[in-house]
Amino acid sequence: MKKAFVIIDNGHGAETPGKCSPDGQLKEWAWTRQAAKALAAELKRRGIGSTLLVSEARDVPLRERVRAANEISRLHDNAVLVSLHTNASRSDGRWGDACGWSVFTAPVASEKSRRLARLLYEEACARNLKGNRSTPAEGYWTASLAMCRDTVCPAVLTENLFHDHAGDAAFLLSSEGLRCIVELHADAIEKYYATL
Ligand SMILES: [Zn+2]
Repeated sequence: MKKAFVIIDNGHGAETPGKCSPDGQLKEWAWTRQAAKALAAELKRRGIGSTLLVSEARDVPLRERVRAANEISRLHDNAVLVSLHTNASRSDGRWGDACGWSVFTAPVASEKSRRLARLLYEEACARNLKGNRSTPAEGYWTASLAMCRDTVCPAVLTENLFHDHAGDAAFLLSSEGLRCIVELHADAIEKYYATL
């Protein structure tokens, strides 16, 4: 396996407005930080190095996160970046119907980014996390997201279920749910490096 290194971006900070379940139980920033830490520990257990791009609770602007990610990726030949998020279908603070897991790459993404996204999608499907929305045939979505678009290493952004869907939120808040999301990422990352 080629030397593996994962830059884990845990996205929004505590000051980002909204971004929580309608009952206030699941805050995206807090959940993604918990998931990022658990993923780093799981990767370490598998012999894969990683770093958390943002360790503190505060909001770190996108531009700063991109700059930091690019600096780190220059120190590692085969670094990849995974940005962790939870999704939302509504902006009015109510529970929504949309559920399920999805992954994004930039519209102009490297073959490696697309391969990692595809592997992540396959792991999500294997865990029955596809949800109730139609997914592009290739398994991943494309969007002009700074963390994918402006980073120099292969980069993907995962939307780990909907924090405004009651079932998804309950699953994410369970230890089983967190474990499932962490292992999904670790398995896909391991497969990515095994075939690099
Ligand atoms: Zn987000």
